[in-house]
Amino acid sequence: MTTRAQRKAQNLAKQALIAPKKSKKSPSSTSSAKARTHAKPVRAPTGDRVIEAEFEAGATHADQFPPPAFSEIAFAGRSNVGKSSLMNCLTGRRNLVRTSSTPGCTRQVAWFRTTSDDKSIIDLVDLPGYGYAKRSKSERDHWALLIEGYLLERPTLRGVVVLLDIRRGVEADDIDLIEMLKSPARVSRRPLEVIVVATKMDKLSPTSQKSALLKLSQALNMEVLGFSSQTALGRLPLWRQIRKIAGVGPSAEPKLEATSSADAAPISEEEHPVAPGP
Ligand code: GDP
Repeated sequence: MTTRAQRKAQNLAKQALIAPKKSKKSPSSTSSAKARTHAKPVRAPTGDRVIEAEFEAGATHADQFPPPAFSEIAFAGRSNVGKSSLMNCLTGRRNLVRTSSTPGCTRQVAWFRTTSDDKSIIDLVDLPGYGYAKRSKSERDHWALLIEGYLLERPTLRGVVVLLDIRRGVEADDIDLIEMLKSPARVSRRPLEVIVVATKMDKLSPTSQKSALLKLSQALNMEVLGFSSQTALGRLPLWRQIRKIAGVGPSAEPKLEATSSADAAPISEEEHPVAPGP
């Protein structure tokens, strides 16, 4: 007769002999199968995607400008035109450049170093917004000196993106800026390229967008590229133009049809509304 303790011991021994239930797949085969199913196709770097973007330097006076290093593309426009949002959208970062609904916040020239997936480096330079009515005369004079010093004396500056709010059109300050960009530089460098971008396109209906762009380009006698930071409309064509001007990567003329490329920025709607120049 077996005691209760003996029966328990026999049961335990039996259990020990039973091999553990085999899982359907061993851990290693599961992970490799997973890797196979989720493996992303390796894409050749195109330069379209910004993989790194960092604040590099800020200056409120010309003597604080960092030493020239990489090609620079500057961004200028009236306060509140959507400059910070556009720069964040271009780099695929949410908060690289501070955005604000309070006009007149950015008063320094700020350098942001970007590295694309093809390892090319471009410095994007945020210029303080102009046309903020509440600024004093001395503040406006200081702005003019700072901007003029940067735009006309920076040897590594290759181009300037001039931003206009699609709903406001061209104003006197914008014309003054574009005229200044045509003045001869005080240093030896290539002539500046100017890209005019109309921001906040999403605020207009598709039909109004076309006519507003055309009106702007006729007023300026220049090509105008439509952009929306909300939908990323125009993001890729603008980035490619910037790269071309900065002299990195293959030259890529913007195309009128929609482009599809995986990107850090939300680029699902980046078809390219553009009103041709002369
Ligand atoms: P900045 O002063 O030129 O740097 O302008 P911000 O980028 O700070 O934008 C000013 C305001 O406009 C903010 O409230 C933004 O959310 C808004 N904004 C900027 N870009 C767009 C855009 O493409 N579409 C819409 N609907 N609003 C925008």
